Amino acid sequence: MLDKKKIKEKLEKERDILLEELRDMGKLNPQTGEWQATPQEQDSPESDQNDLADRFEDFEAKSSMIKALEPRLNNILRAIKELARESFGKCEICKKDIEEDRLDVNPAARTCKKHLER
Ligand SMILES: [Zn+2]
Repeated sequence: MLDKKKIKEKLEKERDILLEELRDMGKLNPQTGEWQATPQEQDSPESDQNDLADRFEDFEAKSSMIKALEPRLNNILRAIKELARESFGKCEICKKDIEEDRLDVNPAARTCKKHLER
């Protein structure tokens, strides 16, 4: 029997960590539902070329971090939603129970070890 409560707590903790990381780097666009990097604050009004390049680099770094984090967050949000369903913890492909140790490592897993994603 799966300990859904424990899994939910774990997922929510992970979600909060990811949200915190995302908020450090950007903000959620309410129109698209996607996270966008926020440009660094300008220190002085007369910024030179170097400063502009730095800020651009910073923005690019944030954007790629967000791109990596966003699917993880979506995965967790989806898992939290699915947790409420009877089918949670069942492999999408063979419909058998997903191994507990696999769920422990990745509670958002949708397939058993035999049918690993990717
Ligand atoms: Zn399977």
